[in-house]
Amino acid sequence: MKLTRRDFVRVSALLGLSGGISSLFAKSKNKPSHVIIVGAGAAGLSAGYLLAQLGIDFKILEASSVYGGRLKTSTDFADFPVSLGAEWLHVNPNILVQIAQGGKTAINVPTIGYKHDDKAVYWDGEELEEVMVGKVKDRKFVGGSWLNFFEDYILPSVKEHISYNTIVESIDYSKKKVSVSTRSKQNYEADKVILTASLRLLQDQDIGFFPQLPESKLVAIKKATMWKGIKIFMKFSKKFYPTFVVPEDIEDRSGQILFYDAAYGQDTSENILGFFAVGKPAEPYLSLSGNNLRDFVLSQLDHIFGGAASRSFIKFIVQNWQAEPFVKAAYLQDYESLDVVEALSLPINKKVYFAGEAYAGREDWGGVHTATQSARTAVEQMMS
Ligand SMILES: Cc1cc2nc3c(=O)[nH]c(=O)nc-3n(C[C@H](O)[C@H](O)[C@H](O)COP(=O)(O)OP(=O)(O)OC[C@H]3O[C@@H](n4cnc5c(N)ncnc54)[C@H](O)[C@@H]3O)c2cc1C
Repeated sequence: MKLTRRDFVRVSALLGLSGGISSLFAKSKNKPSHVIIVGAGAAGLSAGYLLAQLGIDFKILEASSVYGGRLKTSTDFADFPVSLGAEWLHVNPNILVQIAQGGKTAINVPTIGYKHDDKAVYWDGEELEEVMVGKVKDRKFVGGSWLNFFEDYILPSVKEHISYNTIVESIDYSKKKVSVSTRSKQNYEADKVILTASLRLLQDQDIGFFPQLPESKLVAIKKATMWKGIKIFMKFSKKFYPTFVVPEDIEDRSGQILFYDAAYGQDTSENILGFFAVGKPAEPYLSLSGNNLRDFVLSQLDHIFGGAASRSFIKFIVQNWQAEPFVKAAYLQDYESLDVVEALSLPINKKVYFAGEAYAGREDWGGVHTATQSARTAVEQMMS
């Protein structure tokens, strides 16, 4: 079996992020004077970063008390940052330079790739197969994370524009100005709105639109499958596992599941095993919590590694993405139909624009790099 899956060995080329900010200016016939961005995750922060460079006034309304969304990172579980959502860089690290282009600070973000002869094991429930990892394009941040990258290079020029604990409930685009209302009955007006909230929130109609969204958009929202997701990190006194442990057939299109050495390439002596499951394979794990979940995962590892997991277990943390009230999912499934992906990305009436992992268009979706690319596309669309 080959160690390949779309999210894990992302072979996509760098997306079209090479046009400088000046190319946006060149196109700017319709420069809006004020823009509201809903959400301060990767897409919302990236959109703000571009608008700041274009000298366009903007406000980011963020439902939670923090920025980052699915970039959430724990700094107190291990002696290096542990990524509870986005962890790998799926494309060439040059993407970081391109995301932050126009900034004043030179980019210095250490990342590490996997070695050809790193070990992976496959477990089909009965037999263990050991293989070399081979060619893996994904890279890990060293002593940092996606969140740290945004904090260092993107956040400084947008942080003053973020309003936290501001839950957008409806968007009225029936008039010349777009009106955005929040749960606490505040109203914000803008020329344009960029919506970056998780698609799952639109599926649950947590945000209402007036007039109703076009039929093609409603159909796509309904049809799209947002994968459920969970990550678990476990600390052990001994390292009994290789770089990757695949407990099921990862070619299964219903989702993905993987144990991995989360401390790979880090300057640490701690043994931190990560667990990642999205889609259907995540369901048994999402149905458990607390010590029941811990015991379930330990018994699975003990089965594979002859009891070594329980013998050296120290502690664990869980990130259940279904339980995050302003995300409620992992990301748009890897195998979504291109028609759906395309329809999700389209703006409405030159007033409401969509940016974020699920609205990234048919080139690619589901990752941080695609969320940032979609932010650029949304800004370009509103300037054209
Ligand atoms: C388990 C997991 C593993 C992943 N692994 C990787 C990986 O290794 N590499 C990678 O590139 N990507 C990975 N991803 C995907 C990546 O995290 C996302 O693509 C990206 O972070 C999404 O950014 P976003 O801005 O589109 O959405 P979000 O991060 O969800 O940001 C949206 C923001 O909007 C806010 N919001 C929501 N509703 C409202 C509202 N009503 N009013 C105001 N604000 C609102 C939210 O609080 C949030 O802050 C992973 C995701 C998960 C869940």
